[in-house]
Amino acid sequence: MDFRPTEEQKFIRQAARDFAESEIKPGAAERDLNAEFPADIVKQLGELGFMGVAIPEELGGAGAGNLAYVMALEEICRADAGVGVIMSVNNSLVCDPLHNFGSDYIKENYLKKLASGEWLGSYALTEPGAGTDAGAQKTTAVKDGNEYVLNGTKSFITSGDSCDVTITYAKTDPEAPNGKGISAFVVEKGTPGFNVGKHEDKLGIRCSDCVSLIFEDCRIPAGNLVGEEGKGFKVALATLDIGRLGIGAQAIGIGQACMDESIAYSKEREQFGKPISFFQAIQWKLADMAMEVDAARLLVWRAAWMRDEGMRHTLQSSMGKLFASETAMKAALQAVQIHGGYGYIKEYPVERFMRDAKITEIYEGTSEVQRLVIARNILAD
Ligand SMILES: Cc1cc2nc3c(=O)[nH]c(=O)nc-3n(C[C@H](O)[C@H](O)[C@H](O)COP(=O)(O)OP(=O)(O)OC[C@H]3O[C@@H](n4cnc5c(N)ncnc54)[C@H](O)[C@@H]3O)c2cc1C
Repeated sequence: MDFRPTEEQKFIRQAARDFAESEIKPGAAERDLNAEFPADIVKQLGELGFMGVAIPEELGGAGAGNLAYVMALEEICRADAGVGVIMSVNNSLVCDPLHNFGSDYIKENYLKKLASGEWLGSYALTEPGAGTDAGAQKTTAVKDGNEYVLNGTKSFITSGDSCDVTITYAKTDPEAPNGKGISAFVVEKGTPGFNVGKHEDKLGIRCSDCVSLIFEDCRIPAGNLVGEEGKGFKVALATLDIGRLGIGAQAIGIGQACMDESIAYSKEREQFGKPISFFQAIQWKLADMAMEVDAARLLVWRAAWMRDEGMRHTLQSSMGKLFASETAMKAALQAVQIHGGYGYIKEYPVERFMRDAKITEIYEGTSEVQRLVIARNILAD
């Protein structure tokens, strides 16, 4: 076992940290307040190679692997988890499936632009009636000559308004049972019949947009099918393995930020004539935070390493995502507690971290679902 990052991984992690500190952190509170999409930052993330970290260079990415990706993403989320989810969706949910399942045409025409950050992608699986039960898709795609005609509504789609393309899932065989007869498609913004619906007003990660997407007789070229017709659910599930690593990294970034702020504040804030870091009650909270954030990082890094080694890692991704997200939530609650009344007001960032942390327990598989995945895997062995 070698825990030392490579020179390339160290370089990417440091570059992400420097960019996050200088360009992302300063505006995070204001973007949160105004729910303002960070268009300039997203462009710069692309220029730095962070929008397709694990995608090969010849396809527009940085070619640095999945471990480097989660390292970079943690640093971005440490400054602003809202910016982080935009990066995570583009890397994990858009570029990765196009790389693994897309045709040469899709790689040439879409992946290169998305991995280089020239374009931004979104991922549209959830529907009003198909959340955890993602196999219960109602959106349809009917083949008509050299086109598919899409009809249906997707909900809660991150970057759905700001994106240039979305990967959407639709039933190509409406009679097929749950999870079957589903196909994945790339749909370009501006295609007639592809419209943005309701904007959600969110608790946290407020600078990212989250919208419903509506398809009304939306005609797309048959060549925009990702993978085989009817095998789209396989694409969706395979994508979640890497998606959960991204959310794990997001949660670690939030947990680390909680720790950074709590350490600094506890050394500065005095009560009873001493810094509060002098009190064991505070020290124990900090010690637990440090241990749990580090354990979460190791779980997520292990799963990312396994992916880089070409090993199956569904179980390890779920463990990493579940542990990291519950760690982030716990760390955020403790960070607010350590800040006392100041933790409850917007002048300090920990109340934002608490709001941001919650989503990591919900999207890309709720904590309940991660426990189901883990149980299924260990019982199957
Ligand atoms: C801010 C935000 C961004 C999002 N971004 C995207 C995106 O970009 N693309 C996308 O496709 N989706 C996205 N989603 C959707 C997200 O993935 C779903 O909200 C999530 O999968 C849960 O589905 P649901 O909300 O329908 O909850 P439900 O499935 O209705 O679940 C409700 C509760 O029931 C529990 N539950 C459900 N089934 C079971 C079961 N079998 N056993 C035990 N408990 C169960 C759940 O764990 C949960 O606690 C986003 C959501 C949010 C809020």
